[in-house]
Amino acid sequence: MPDIIKLLPDSVANQIAAGEVVQRPASAVKELLENSLDAGATEIRLIIKDGGSTLMQVIDNGAGMTDTDARMCWERHATSKIESATDIYALQTFGFRGEALASIAAVSQVELKTRRQDADAATFIRIEGSKITEQSLVSGPVGTSIAVKNLFYNIPARRNFLKSAAVESRHIMEEFQRQALAWPGVEFKFYNNESETFHLKPGTLEDRIREVLGIKKALLEVGEQTEILGIEGYVGAPETARKTRGDQYFYVNGRFIRSAYFNHAVQAAFEGTIESNAYPTFVLNLSIDPARIDVNVHPTKTEVKFEDERHIYNIIKAAVRKAIGGHIMQPDAELFGLGGIEDFLNQGLPIVNPATQSSQDFRSTGHGGSGGDGKVPNYNPFTPDYKPRQTHQDWARILGPVDDLAEIGDITRRTSLLPDKEEVRIQDIFTLQNRFAVCKIQDELFFIDLKVAKEKTLYHTFLSRLTEHKAVSQQLLFPRTLDLNPGKLQMFLELQEEFGHLGFDVSHFGGNSILINGLPPEVSETDEAAVIEGILEDITTSQSSATEVKHDNMALSMAKQAVRRYLSFSDASQARILVESLFSIENATLPHKNKPVAMKIGTEFIVDLFNRK
Ligand code: ADP
Ligand code: MG
Repeated sequence: MPDIIKLLPDSVANQIAAGEVVQRPASAVKELLENSLDAGATEIRLIIKDGGSTLMQVIDNGAGMTDTDARMCWERHATSKIESATDIYALQTFGFRGEALASIAAVSQVELKTRRQDADAATFIRIEGSKITEQSLVSGPVGTSIAVKNLFYNIPARRNFLKSAAVESRHIMEEFQRQALAWPGVEFKFYNNESETFHLKPGTLEDRIREVLGIKKALLEVGEQTEILGIEGYVGAPETARKTRGDQYFYVNGRFIRSAYFNHAVQAAFEGTIESNAYPTFVLNLSIDPARIDVNVHPTKTEVKFEDERHIYNIIKAAVRKAIGGHIMQPDAELFGLGGIEDFLNQGLPIVNPATQSSQDFRSTGHGGSGGDGKVPNYNPFTPDYKPRQTHQDWARILGPVDDLAEIGDITRRTSLLPDKEEVRIQDIFTLQNRFAVCKIQDELFFIDLKVAKEKTLYHTFLSRLTEHKAVSQQLLFPRTLDLNPGKLQMFLELQEEFGHLGFDVSHFGGNSILINGLPPEVSETDEAAVIEGILEDITTSQSSATEVKHDNMALSMAKQAVRRYLSFSDASQARILVESLFSIENATLPHKNKPVAMKIGTEFIVDLFNRK
């Protein structure tokens, strides 16, 4: 029996590897741009033709390569960026695998021209299907030009698989934009079929974002340095959020990443200021010690693993929240639920828009910040000794209901996110139409939607049960079974532990049935089936499997179902207890999932009502 195992020739091995690295023209462009940036280029030109299928060329003014390196760089595992595996943990460059050029050269016809500062001439190399067919000395500027022609010319199946030039160009453009956004100090030009699509001059990040994404409206700066990471960048002001999840860019140490989890953190920070089906624009870079992350997850490296994901989530959320809090220009009456109050006050009374009114006041106090955009300069949840009360007056005047934004507190103390236990003393309270409470708190008039308040407090109760595992359960005298469809049963089995934390004493009974032994006190024995099925339903339709998102959805769903029991709120003493518990939670007066919960009628506003002709 002859031996049958052979080593693959390099050209074949490279072609196979290329399948991973070069999925489409845009992935080659990504590698070329990253190499130029790694080489320290300050000017980069990208030229493509026919969606990249006939030409993708990147020309840079970076360090260039020596004659020998210009040959070497086409070998697999040829890299100048790391020497040992441990170097990966101190990585300052994009590249480190030494695979990209080898892969690209295996599936296309490439021309390289490169010159170092200290060399008299440039090296020209032509390489086709991994074989160098020409090498010569030519004249040329310092830097590197790599032209990739006829991608997949030697793999017809893959070449045919390319999408239309328009689609591939769009992918390339996306790639270009990602890099351009991360490197505002670098000049970029992009030519598509000989027309100049972008010419981005070096400038500030803000300018770069405006140019690349075509944004004219307000951008809010995010900038925070904590012990474990720095976060900097911009978010679009709430009023610029859009219905499509478009311009959302996360970077880690300048490397573009995708993370549903971190996107959720930003979304959560915007909660209450945008509609729940709207997506904010953002460009955010996290700078983290490379030792705390693992980029070695995927060849195309848009996924990165982190050591302290939860922590980072909270930092992102707080930093963005702070940026939004510092923005607050003229609050949109409807956004903060002022629309609802008109129903009360509009009966025969002229209504003024307290928002417009008081923001003028605010500017005239001289706190207006740059360009009169109404920033609250000393709002900062990151300083441990930050005293929200100092600006309380200003906040209250600009937007009553949102002033609790100031109480996000130090996010590193996650459990102490509750307001700093300052007693909220309800001086007077009565209910209205079995639904609302009108109360006097610290000499200010508040309207509270009791139903939403109940839902909000329930939501917070459930959320803390889920995270702190403090289940409260009431045992049933007669345990009962519930039949689920197979899809829901599967979901139930995945969430069984969480159901336990919520206070359900439930287990798999066999087949498609589950056995219910006990219920959380908030769920009555008559609607337990609807509640359990409702939660399973809501979770199935949510996309993310991140724990935070899952908990959020479960608590939300459960609160939504549990609140149905409370039809009427007419008892003032119960309303008092409810309002007190509302005020004991973080951001008490912010809308609950876009449902306005509390409204403050400021004294200025009342005075205004009377002063108006
Ligand atoms: P990696 O970037 O992972 O090191 P590549 O295959 O992308 O692997 O590149 C191989 C090597 O070629 C790099 O390590 C670098 O030394 C060199 N190189 C590639 N592109 C350039 C460039 N534009 N300018 C200077 N050197 C380059
Ligand atoms: Mg590279």
